[in-house]
Amino acid sequence: MDKVAQLQQWVKESRNIVFFGGAGVSTESGIPDFRSVDGLYQQKYAYPPETILSHSFFMAKPEEFYRFYRDKMLYLQAKPNAAHLKLAELEACGRLKAVITQNIDGLHQAAGSKKVLELHGSVLRNYCQKCGKFYEVQAILQSQGIPRCACGGIIKPDVVLYEESLDEAVLEEAMRCIAQADMLMIGGTSLAVYPAAGLIYGYHGRRLVLINRDPTPHDQKADLLIPGKIGEILSQIKTA
Ligand code: NAD
Repeated sequence: MDKVAQLQQWVKESRNIVFFGGAGVSTESGIPDFRSVDGLYQQKYAYPPETILSHSFFMAKPEEFYRFYRDKMLYLQAKPNAAHLKLAELEACGRLKAVITQNIDGLHQAAGSKKVLELHGSVLRNYCQKCGKFYEVQAILQSQGIPRCACGGIIKPDVVLYEESLDEAVLEEAMRCIAQADMLMIGGTSLAVYPAAGLIYGYHGRRLVLINRDPTPHDQKADLLIPGKIGEILSQIKTA
């Protein structure tokens, strides 16, 4: 049986699919990932992106952080692609129970997914560090330099920066969903960023599907390894 036919059969037989994905899920929407050859990490800036996107850099040089952030992290015109749409369809028909994402772009919700666990937060939410007031992403886009609250505090995106810890409740719920899944579909992630990548160890079933364009350090754990573009692959899956 070919690999996509095998995936189709498992989808048909499953009632508790959990999807775990990363930046590669959104590249077909035009948002670059970090680690591919054409990804953000291959471009040259005054500081490496890991440095700019760290908590200490944000605190020390917020103006420089925001110059990079507005230029490289906000893709507000991007639309959900075939992968986002298929995952939402799988949830609507009762087969998929949760999407766990490392992405911060909000595209799973835009596609209609209801249960989305955002391990790294979202660019669509922003808070004043001083008084906690909420701001839409437009407040960041429309401001110049360092975006400030009416109270004078600096506004920070609700995004987990390097050196910051993940939200415990979100991480625990992700682990709970994965432990109960009858099929774990992983896609579009280099499985290189911890602790998120460690979630793979919480699955003990026999339907671990890994769909990724490039090899990952966990390829040998997959029961079904499908190299390729996730949107192209998932668009072939029928839910009816
Ligand atoms: P990564 O950049 O480390 O790896 C992306 C992986 O996706 C690569 O292995 C690549 O081969 C694969 N890939 C790229 N396009 C693909 C496609 N069309 N189909 C299948 N596979 C594809 O990304 P990561 O593992 O998610 O870790 C990077 C971190 O950066 C994440 O924590 C995330 O928070 C953040 N990030 C988010 C976005 C976003 O929100 N869209 C974009 C870039 C980075």
